[in-house]
Amino acid sequence: MNAAVQILDAIRSGKGTASKKDIKEATGLAWGTMCKGVDMLLARGYVLALREKPNGRGRPTVPLCINGDAAYYVGLDIGAAHTRAVVCNLSFQTVFMNETDTAFYTDAASFFDRLRALVESAITQARIERAKLRGIGVSVSGNVDFEGGVLVSARNFGIPWGADLPLAEKLGAAFGVPIYAMTTQAAASAAEYHFGEMAGCPNLLTVGLGVGIGSGVVSEGQLLISRPERPVGYIGHMLISGNENVCTCGFRGCLEAYSGGASLARVAKEKFPRRKDFTDAHAMDVLADEGDRDAMQILDTAASYNAAGIASMIQLYMPEAVVFGGGQCRADGYLYQKTIAGVQKILPRERLAHIKIGITTLGKYQSALGAARLVYEQEFGENKK
Ligand SMILES: [Zn+2]
Repeated sequence: MNAAVQILDAIRSGKGTASKKDIKEATGLAWGTMCKGVDMLLARGYVLALREKPNGRGRPTVPLCINGDAAYYVGLDIGAAHTRAVVCNLSFQTVFMNETDTAFYTDAASFFDRLRALVESAITQARIERAKLRGIGVSVSGNVDFEGGVLVSARNFGIPWGADLPLAEKLGAAFGVPIYAMTTQAAASAAEYHFGEMAGCPNLLTVGLGVGIGSGVVSEGQLLISRPERPVGYIGHMLISGNENVCTCGFRGCLEAYSGGASLARVAKEKFPRRKDFTDAHAMDVLADEGDRDAMQILDTAASYNAAGIASMIQLYMPEAVVFGGGQCRADGYLYQKTIAGVQKILPRERLAHIKIGITTLGKYQSALGAARLVYEQEFGENKK
């Protein structure tokens, strides 16, 4: 990781007490490199030196802290159902958050108009100085070319393959700051790795159970980034034997073509046309919890498909933690509990003994937070082409 980002992380976790010696220990950087980095950050006003503390007979130590108000980052997460925006300061405190429905895609012009208005309103309502805005991170539930900053497709809300929407170019021109685009699950994994309950866990898997089924991977401390032609953690499109449903991607049998929130409602309608109360995945989850046999039947199959996909991801990446998120995840919900039970049935107990499994503590702004974090890393030269 970039030295400046490492130094800032060390200072941030020191909570106002980190000295140069502490930073050297935490980062493992050479003394000279670390001092150069700290000086640069002090000169830019990103870091403040606090009053010297006497240190016995040695030289007094100077505690360093982050100047939270020195820079701000917007994180925008365009999910299949909702679009969420956060504004974070340099201390990564969230100073603003907002949620709206994701509009079904009609054309590029209105898509960009809407995004610009969302960012504009976030900046205004957060009451930050415009000159202090340093970047906008955008995560999308779709295929993203992060190098070009292009949204290739997002079929869950109507953007067809090859639409190639120039996110970085359009938002960059409107706001005059760097734009970094990524997939929702890459952002979710970044958020968990830096801010979640399992922060710092070098091998981490995130699973999003929502309108689609997504997953993201941190392996040996490295966030694995998807390219449109070579996606990573493409769990939703794992082909599940016995699943005959056709996916938005065109294949038959993809996991999310059954277990995705939108698919579940469709499957239920076909199987139980008289059940008017099967309005969406959430309604079925509640009914299944109450013992409704039809709802249980639909969700049992969904859970078994989820479990097959998640167990395969665990076998592939050997994570120490699996963090769930997304609209279909309720800690005591029927589908979530059944999915976990399914994973536990497939994998041997010895393997599971070393894996922590739980629901994100970051809530529904998880990916927006991750998007803000990733554009912040970009400012110092991370994840560049
Ligand atoms: Zn598919």
